[in-house]
Amino acid sequence: MIIVTGVTARVPAKLNLQLAVGPPRADGYHHLVTVFHAVALFDEVTVEVAERDTVTVTGEGASTVPHDGDNLALRAVAALRKQVRGGNRAAGVRVSIAKRIPVAAGLAGGSADAAAALVAANELWTAGLTPQRLAEVAATIGSDVAFALLGGTAVGRGRGELLTPALAPATQYHWVLAFAEGQLSTPKVYAALDRLRAAESGAPPAQHHPDLDAALMTALRSGDAARLGRALSNDLQPAALSLYPALRKTLAAGLELGALGALVAGSGPTCVFLAASAERALELAVSLSGAGVCRSVARVTGPVPGAAVVPAQG
Ligand code: ATP
Repeated sequence: MIIVTGVTARVPAKLNLQLAVGPPRADGYHHLVTVFHAVALFDEVTVEVAERDTVTVTGEGASTVPHDGDNLALRAVAALRKQVRGGNRAAGVRVSIAKRIPVAAGLAGGSADAAAALVAANELWTAGLTPQRLAEVAATIGSDVAFALLGGTAVGRGRGELLTPALAPATQYHWVLAFAEGQLSTPKVYAALDRLRAAESGAPPAQHHPDLDAALMTALRSGDAARLGRALSNDLQPAALSLYPALRKTLAAGLELGALGALVAGSGPTCVFLAASAERALELAVSLSGAGVCRSVARVTGPVPGAAVVPAQG
């Protein structure tokens, strides 16, 4: 019998092709309608049997991630442990996170790590939770964790955890991500949006009803990148720009350089550009790097599947 002592899962970052934000709810979260899109920028999370729970983080932004029970991957393991019993499941785990998704960049890296930890621990403990039950546990950890499990392109409602996969042809889109210096706190960006809306005459927060953008869904069904580029939208963008005005220059530079569309990723500060092809994405990435309007760039494709176990070697 082979005893498995460690399992690794790989998980993608997410973009929001639409992020429509409604008024704050009684629980403090905002009503959302969003179109999630998973892209090929991956963190890897390894979960191994250990005497007690620990977490180590390496890679992009590792020093700014909690190395204790506040780490979302460790919280996910603890939540899963409550759902399963027996065998080595009560034992501790060593969680090792290799980050490529920048932290607090609007790409839901923490949620991604939580989803990968759930998938890896489910396998390590041979717990056998179905995707549906894993998604229920995911929703207790954070709003974006369920999507990191699912991947692809999906409509999210509620606070983002109520998901419907988007029916779309198998088009691959070419994105360029411009990473910024520093981070933006998601709660602070939502608070800035509420302030901006309160300051607008005749638009109190309660009057914003988030609706799925029909033009965006039509663009996705058509697989036409130019149409998709025109339909990208993010209600958080003005708030992110108010806190990080230099992003205006980054967005304008990408559009001048021929991007089909540009927007801030989630709560920012990463900027996202859609390119017409792999070649255009390469040109855009090179030109953006040279323009001095961001810390670094990455080219990624999407959609890609959600969190999945990496097959063991040998
Ligand atoms: P959100 O998912 O809230 O939109 P984001 O995508 O901008 O946020 P994340 O990288 O998910 O940013 O980080 C959000 C916060 O979560 C950070 O303050 C970070 O310290 C914390 N965090 C906890 N665990 C992790 C983790 N495993 N990886 C990254 N961040 C983590």
